[in-house]
Amino acid sequence: MPIDARYDPSNVFARILRGEIPSERVYEDADFVAFRDIEPAAPVHIILVPRGQPPTSPATISEADTDWIGRMVHAATRIAAAQGLAERGYRLVLNCGDDAGQTVGHLHLHILGGRALGPVA
Ligand code: AMP
Repeated sequence: MPIDARYDPSNVFARILRGEIPSERVYEDADFVAFRDIEPAAPVHIILVPRGQPPTSPATISEADTDWIGRMVHAATRIAAAQGLAERGYRLVLNCGDDAGQTVGHLHLHILGGRALGPVA
């Protein structure tokens, strides 16, 4: 999807957060929810999203977002460890816009692991 700062509350992750679409949640706290990707690209593929209406993509974050993004990365490392990925390693991915293949306009972090993932692109 093109980069667009306007948040569309009908996006699939907003609907998952509202409980309108089922998901297999693996983690949640006051700020974040994590669930399994519906089309996993690796044996473990989890999507970690902020609650509420976050920036639509990495390109639309501001200085005010840096604290919670740090906490989101920290939560991702805890989730990866809980999924058994700490020993062999894993990949955290933030897609941004069309060339990265971003399809959902609600900032999200991919947690990928469970096999050797190969080159980044
Ligand atoms: P991105 O390409 O970074 O925008 O990632 C969006 C991800 O959301 C893709 O990996 C999709 O497979 C995943 N996805 C789309 N719909 C759902 C859903 N209903 N439940 C779980 N994951 C989904």
